[in-house]
Amino acid sequence: MGVRLRNIPIYSVPKERLHSAAGFPAYGLAFKKYGWVRQDLPPRVKKHVILHERIHVKYGRGEILTNLIAGARDPRGWMATAFATIKDPQRRAAYARNAKLLLFRKRKNI
Ligand SMILES: [Zn+2]
Repeated sequence: MGVRLRNIPIYSVPKERLHSAAGFPAYGLAFKKYGWVRQDLPPRVKKHVILHERIHVKYGRGEILTNLIAGARDPRGWMATAFATIKDPQRRAAYARNAKLLLFRKRKNI
């Protein structure tokens, strides 16, 4: 747990590779002690995704908490990443699908 965020390795990969690994048009992915980031992202977005994936590696997998921590540390990068997602139809569709799955799962549990 003593590992510093900046020492957590994040590898830059082509977007196709990340897409097939994550199953959706992801900007980044974290697994155990490493992470990956799409190499074609704009610099500010890429930097933020690297921070985001490092937080996943260090603190766990919760998306909301990871976004809060990353957003507090790098608000401008968080905004740039949010805008990049809004502008990208593939990512918008993926988020809409996930939201639907979440709603469906909630309804089933009641
Ligand atoms: Zn994440």
